[in-house]
Amino acid sequence: MKPKQLKCSFCHKEEKKCKRIIAGPGVFICDECINRYLEQLETEKKCSTLTEFRETFPTPTQIYDHLNDYVIGQEKAKKIISVAVYNHYKRIYLAALDHSTEIQKSNILMVGPTGCGKTHIMKSVATLLKVPLSISDATSLTEAGYVGEDVESVLTNLVINARYNIEEAQKGICFIDEIDKIARKEDSSSVTRDVSGEGVQQALLKIVEGTKANIPPKSGRKHPQQDFIQLDTNNILFVVAGVFEGIDKIIKIRCGEKRFGFGQSITRINQGQIIPEDLIKFGMIPEFIGRFPILCELEDLTPTQLCEILEKPKNALLRQYKALFEMDGIELVWEKEALLELASIAYEKKSGARALRSILEELFLDVFYMDPAQKGIEKIALTLKSVKQGKVELIPRRKLAVS
Ligand code: ADP
Repeated sequence: MKPKQLKCSFCHKEEKKCKRIIAGPGVFICDECINRYLEQLETEKKCSTLTEFRETFPTPTQIYDHLNDYVIGQEKAKKIISVAVYNHYKRIYLAALDHSTEIQKSNILMVGPTGCGKTHIMKSVATLLKVPLSISDATSLTEAGYVGEDVESVLTNLVINARYNIEEAQKGICFIDEIDKIARKEDSSSVTRDVSGEGVQQALLKIVEGTKANIPPKSGRKHPQQDFIQLDTNNILFVVAGVFEGIDKIIKIRCGEKRFGFGQSITRINQGQIIPEDLIKFGMIPEFIGRFPILCELEDLTPTQLCEILEKPKNALLRQYKALFEMDGIELVWEKEALLELASIAYEKKSGARALRSILEELFLDVFYMDPAQKGIEKIALTLKSVKQGKVELIPRRKLAVS
């Protein structure tokens, strides 16, 4: 008897017209149908990953709105960061499925004065996204083999903050402050190696470019055989920040030469004027700058913004103090004039919002120390007069009853 001609149970193509036909219990499938269904599965997976990303990950607008609750001013920076962070995580989510387009990592370089919110913004973003964050200082980093912390310590911090969950750490954020302090020094001779500058940039470059770094295990390496933890840095978002004191002069020279040409110079540096070449002139190595495609400039905070910082953000210091006193049934009140005065004192100190905390702590130290609830205090008032006198006004319960 002639053997029965097999057919694909799905497209009904005969075996002789197929490259390959696979038999299952009572069914047959051809190579073309297999490929078609695999493609379909892949598309479905892509769609569901994208849907999952859209459903679970905040949009740039939502990230921006969250930042708005905590960060005063810095509108452009908040927008840039919201978009960069969103694209970074979208890239991670989808890269595993789509290899056709390589999306560059959105590492961020922030330039702005001390205390204007660079660290604060990244902390707020990490809290919203629930991703681990490590905060390091570039000045404490050295090349391997020198006294000081190796650049890998940045990653170790991240792993510690991710409670040794490596998968989480690999999607975390590394914030490195004072990056301008590791600029190449002009006078560094080529004989003595520039320990704190170029060498550290080179060492950082390796981990920023993406590598498999070795991290000591939880309890440290007690003996040389003990294994390191391997951390893939490919999907870690690196954010570096610095003041870049003097960069305005570099911009002026560049603009003076190119745009003005006749010895005229600009007097003011506007936001968005820094270009990568200025940072290279400053002493950053080109390969390093090349790894930070997102350049984000932050502005000096004005006295009015410092004043807002005292009371507006969800975690504003005065709001926190108010909540603390409320626990004891004491009301904390303040006058706008008092806040303006505090802001202008802080502004004079030229350390942005950082000065606000120390000034307020000083002003409230005695009242926290005396435990006002025990002393029959009903109300604490932060008035202009009290700021000038250096201590807040305490209003006792009895006095309130009389008046
Ligand atoms: P830096 O720019 O030097 O990194 P930080 O972000 O560390 O400054 O700011 C120090 C503190 O000042 C923050 O913890 C935050 O409480 C406050 N702060 C700074 N800038 C802002 C801002 N724009 N809005 C609200 N708070 C701010």
